[in-house]
Amino acid sequence: MSTTPRTGRCPQCSAPALLEAGNRFRPFCSERCKLLDFGAWINGQYTIPAVENDIDGEEIEIDDRDSRLQ
Ligand SMILES: [Zn+2]
Repeated sequence: MSTTPRTGRCPQCSAPALLEAGNRFRPFCSERCKLLDFGAWINGQYTIPAVENDIDGEEIEIDDRDSRLQ
């Protein structure tokens, strides 16, 4: 049996990344790359249009409730 660890490409920097359970940051090569990818997600590089629509819908619901109470 080979003891060569499974490795892949880090999605962030394309460096070889260990894909074993011992790598807490897999599929990334390091914590830094994992955090960088998370930051990109926050900055909207991965677009999730549904989030904005949800916020608009909530505002309309709250306004409607207020007018009914008065
Ligand atoms: Zn990396």
